[in-house]
Amino acid sequence: MTPRVSCQVLVVGLGPVGATLAGLLADAGIRVLAIDKSNDVYPLPRAGHFDHEIMRVFQQLGLADTVLAHTRVAIGYEFRNAKGDVLWGLSSDEDQLAATGWATSYMFNQPPVDRALRDKVLAAPSVDVRLGTEFSSLRATAAGVEVTAASPTGELLIDADYVVGCDGAWSPVREAVGIKLADLKFDEPWLVIDALTKPGSTLPRINLQICDPVRPTSCLPLGPGRHRWEFMMRPGETAEQVLEDDFIHALLTPWDADVEIDRKAVYRFHGLVADRWREGRVLIAGDAAHQTPPFAGQGMCAGIRDAANLSWKLADVLNGQASPDLLDTYQIEREPHVRTFIDLSIAMGRVVCTLDPEEARARDEQMLAARAAGMQAMPPGDPPPFSGPGVLTGSAGAGEMFPQPVHREGGRTVRLDDVLGSGPWLVSRSAEPAPPSSRIKAVRTDDPILAPFRESLNAWLTARDADAALVRPDRYVFGTGRPAVLLDEWRRALGKAIADALP
Ligand SMILES: Cc1cc2nc3c(=O)[nH]c(=O)nc-3n(C[C@H](O)[C@H](O)[C@H](O)COP(=O)(O)OP(=O)(O)OC[C@H]3O[C@@H](n4cnc5c(N)ncnc54)[C@H](O)[C@@H]3O)c2cc1C
Repeated sequence: MTPRVSCQVLVVGLGPVGATLAGLLADAGIRVLAIDKSNDVYPLPRAGHFDHEIMRVFQQLGLADTVLAHTRVAIGYEFRNAKGDVLWGLSSDEDQLAATGWATSYMFNQPPVDRALRDKVLAAPSVDVRLGTEFSSLRATAAGVEVTAASPTGELLIDADYVVGCDGAWSPVREAVGIKLADLKFDEPWLVIDALTKPGSTLPRINLQICDPVRPTSCLPLGPGRHRWEFMMRPGETAEQVLEDDFIHALLTPWDADVEIDRKAVYRFHGLVADRWREGRVLIAGDAAHQTPPFAGQGMCAGIRDAANLSWKLADVLNGQASPDLLDTYQIEREPHVRTFIDLSIAMGRVVCTLDPEEARARDEQMLAARAAGMQAMPPGDPPPFSGPGVLTGSAGAGEMFPQPVHREGGRTVRLDDVLGSGPWLVSRSAEPAPPSSRIKAVRTDDPILAPFRESLNAWLTARDADAALVRPDRYVFGTGRPAVLLDEWRRALGKAIADALP
């Protein structure tokens, strides 16, 4: 007889997104089965950058120090023309922290970070990990979803309350439920090279896009001891041709780089978004739901944001604290955010991927003039705050990320999230006592545990003219206002009938 196992959530795919989701669900006490057809993490060059919000998720998973060992703080990003003139750029200080309590941007080496995420999942008692196990098909049942998978020992049947396809760009889970991808009309072939540098390397320390129509090139310092080049392929060039060592060495010659080639791959960079991210009890996340060109370094970031958004909602639904309707807020909140970054990446890509010399000359003139006039040459990269039923739309700060003040004393650094812990928070400076709630951590800013952060939390509340903020488990602000009103509105948002029925 075919073996049968059951779980609350089946995570298909243990790339960075599936592993983050499984890790967050495990921390919330959910029984997870996680399968991946591969036995190890993806070995070829992919993500090289992530941002401060993602570092906050790694912190939540208890992996901040492990991840930091594979990163360096990104200190600048410039688009230069063939002559070296700066067409567009941004920079930040190495020590500067974003409001989330981490550096704005990090460069990193993806495989060891993927492995750290996977190790966290392998160590979690409530996660059953089956590697070498390939999703084949699914069908909805009265109680949930029945999945068939091919395991190393034969066919496996899995009964899951919910299935999340984190199974990458080709997503068999997405295919199985008939979700289509909308094509955002960007599709360019690039060669990607990761190299090991020697001590004392003099390669650029900032990220560069060399907008040379002869060969558009990205030059990126990755994690410690590593460097990345990406070269746009010219019409007629084949993957076999550009992956040859001689071809690569010729491309690297102008960089005068004393490096050892570690990994190489050819990709088509494109922009795609799934039309639906949920079909009943089946959801998709990460590259399965959206893909972006890498020019803003946001593909994996978007997927990890998906995992952070979805994990607490699934946990609340499965623990009977929220209505399944809450899961519809996942796409409502995440899709506009994802589209903002894809629009930015495609705009950046259109600047970079110009092969026509006349077009390139016109672009240079226009961008240099815009820069001289202090005008912004790219669409804004700041996504809109969340709206919809998952936040108290209309209250100041709703749908923004709540800040994470940082306190440094001696050699010790303390961050707000480590002090307050997981789950939702009601952070209040009002004298009005918060109604008791077993599921929300209610804390006043004059509480001694918040002493190191009091000033910045009060300043944040004052700027929004608010007595209190209700902060969701993904650290986005549900809303601001009076504590009792916020708790009522939070129960309503989760699905009032269910929440009210609980003790
Ligand atoms: C050149 C390049 C540069 C990039 N740069 C950046 C960057 O700087 N910053 C950034 O944030 N992003 C970047 N990205 C994007 C980033 O790499 C991806 O968005 C991210 O790795 C996707 O993660 P994922 O977990 O969704 O999918 P994947 O990492 O693809 O994981 C999917 C998993 O599903 C498994 N799987 C597939 N099918 C099945 C099945 N049938 N059964 C079981 N398991 C299955 C696979 O084995 C795999 O482990 C870049 C991408 C490229 C190509």
